[in-house]
Amino acid sequence: MRDNRRPGRRKRSAFVFAVVGDKHVAAASIAINFLKQFSKADIAVVLARSEIMPAHDQVVRAEVPDHLNDHQASIYLKTRLYKYVAELADIYCYLDSDVIAVRGEADDVFAELRAPISFAADHIDIDTFSSWAVNCGCPPGRCRHLRDSIHRKFGVDIPSGEWICWNGGVFVFDRNSEEFLLAWHQRSMEIMGNPEWKTRDQGALAATVWAHGLQDHALLPQAFNLILDRMWNIPSARRAIAQVSELRFREDYSLSPREGSTAPRLIHFINGGVGQVGWRHWDEVEALLSMKRRHRGLQAMPVVMEENRSSDNSGLADHCLDGDC
Ligand SMILES: [Zn+2]
Repeated sequence: MRDNRRPGRRKRSAFVFAVVGDKHVAAASIAINFLKQFSKADIAVVLARSEIMPAHDQVVRAEVPDHLNDHQASIYLKTRLYKYVAELADIYCYLDSDVIAVRGEADDVFAELRAPISFAADHIDIDTFSSWAVNCGCPPGRCRHLRDSIHRKFGVDIPSGEWICWNGGVFVFDRNSEEFLLAWHQRSMEIMGNPEWKTRDQGALAATVWAHGLQDHALLPQAFNLILDRMWNIPSARRAIAQVSELRFREDYSLSPREGSTAPRLIHFINGGVGQVGWRHWDEVEALLSMKRRHRGLQAMPVVMEENRSSDNSGLADHCLDGDC
């Protein structure tokens, strides 16, 4: 371990994953394979309930409460991450296991930290997110029930339904983030298992942001959390049976830099896009990794192990492993 305390030294930075259970280890391994090719930063994995050793630098074994299922336990770990990694580096960037690095400039994310903590914007506003966060029974669309639940449970007022949520998939933090993370953790634990709330972490995150007066805080550039939703525009009733040919392709960005737009560094494949063979967005990043490996003279290796591959949708139906999906 290098000396962390020498004055004048460069700040050490580390990407961090929080992983619970064997299935989650397998999912995170895909993201780590990409990250290793594109980043020079350390990679740490905070791990519970698995004996599988993820293949990378630093593994921190953690205990999680028995009464939590794996998905809940991953939220437990994620929101109290600072406790596990405090000595490993100076600046950290948490990644959900469906966040895929696609350029070396992914490491620039560490320079984007604005105290006390930095997240990127979600792709939807809070009233659109609402029925995914609470069991209000509304059909997909906008409603104010999440804001009502936040007010009832936490006494926090969110006056605008058009406030864009912070996305929980990527955040940059350091020792000054501990108070914010602790507050997010406590709120997440208060609603966990409560039938009014779904098992997600972004509702508690929104409440914490507003409680701390951070609703207008600087956000990470979207290139560090470009959200690609495999199920975009596909009605809930069709999602379990949707075919690859129905999946939307976004033309408004490109993996390589184009004039007037910033190429993404970290792509967040929400709703099970990782390993979705035949969906152009996934096929492109897989090709990118193979090319990178060939350049480095590394043996061609499957990016996604056969058992995690999905050319139909069945293999990824139960994909919700991180705090939010
Ligand atoms: Zn509702």
